[in-house]
Amino acid sequence: TRVLLTGGSGFIAAHVLDYLLERGHSVVTTVRSQEKADKIRDAHPNVGKDKLNFSIVEDIAQQGAFDKAVVSDPAFEVVIHTASPFHFNVTDVQKDLLDPAIIGTTGILKSIKKSAPSVKRVVITSSFASIIDTSKGGWPEHTYSESDWNPITEEAATENAANGYRASKTFAERAAWDFVEQENPNFTIATMCPPLVIGPIVHYLNSLDALNTSNQRIRDTIQGKYKDETPAGAPYIFVDVRDLALLHVLAAEAESAANKRFFITAGHFNGNTIVDAIRKNFPEYKDNLPKDSATGGDFPEGGVYKINNKRAEELLGTKWTSLEKSVVDTVKSLKEVGA
Ligand code: NDP
Repeated sequence: TRVLLTGGSGFIAAHVLDYLLERGHSVVTTVRSQEKADKIRDAHPNVGKDKLNFSIVEDIAQQGAFDKAVVSDPAFEVVIHTASPFHFNVTDVQKDLLDPAIIGTTGILKSIKKSAPSVKRVVITSSFASIIDTSKGGWPEHTYSESDWNPITEEAATENAANGYRASKTFAERAAWDFVEQENPNFTIATMCPPLVIGPIVHYLNSLDALNTSNQRIRDTIQGKYKDETPAGAPYIFVDVRDLALLHVLAAEAESAANKRFFITAGHFNGNTIVDAIRKNFPEYKDNLPKDSATGGDFPEGGVYKINNKRAEELLGTKWTSLEKSVVDTVKSLKEVGA
């Protein structure tokens, strides 16, 4: 199958790309610069040009940003849209987070409808951010599933960067479902809603200082940032990047994923379970880890929400990667870049 993958320089997308290639698909991935295209190309020396190619899309927040990228020969049958800002160092929530997320998502759907009639499935990386209701806190009596939606308002969205990020994912995913309902396009969509995503970093794109947001807490833990206070670990649920990446590809392939939302999580974690996994497997970091006297690291007092991940589990078909394995493989990958 001919696939367009957006944001190929991203942490999750890099793993999606490798599963696509492994499963025999032919991929064009969008990146913001030729330099990033070259890095990805160099990291795949045995993959032919017919299987891996690039398209430069500098800013997904521009109208019509994807007009050229969606056109290819042979034509695309699948689009996987992962590109979206995920960081909190923003000066303008609207410009830095909301616009690229929302205009990026609606923009690519418009471009596909207009210029890529052969596309049958669009997989969109949304987030648990579009599911969680943070005003409920731990909410132990609740079970989160695909039927929950974050009720965040436009007003709350611009209050701070954390709200801005969660709103960007919520509004972008809503806009995608609205598009399907109102425009009745030729394609079906599937949205992927993972919470904290951890797992091996991609060496050709990352360094210890320039690390994707969701792996930073593991780096900070082994670097000694939490000796006196262990961070609690919100959102308290995680998934390994490899499980999530494979699910993107399975959702692109499976008829049964048409117009479905997937809540993708392996289970619970907190700051202490991450530290325990590191302590057990990497004695060399002993002195950097939270001391016995350190506070924090627990689930919220009163408990935490439950999860219903059955839909994703049926599609994945295998067991989820455990927190311990995920943390261990992340730390190993960080060691390779000097941690
Ligand atoms: P990364 O920061 O590694 O990847 C983000 C990607 O989006 C990069 O390729 C980045 O390009 C691209 N991008 C961001 N803004 C723009 C823009 N304005 N124009 C063009 N490209 C842009 O993060 P992740 O891999 O973690 O995130 C990928 C997706 O997964 C996002 O949609 C994110 O919201 C979602 N997600 C991630 C979770 C996690 O814990 N990691 C949890 C839930 C959802 P560049 O590298 O050039 O900046």
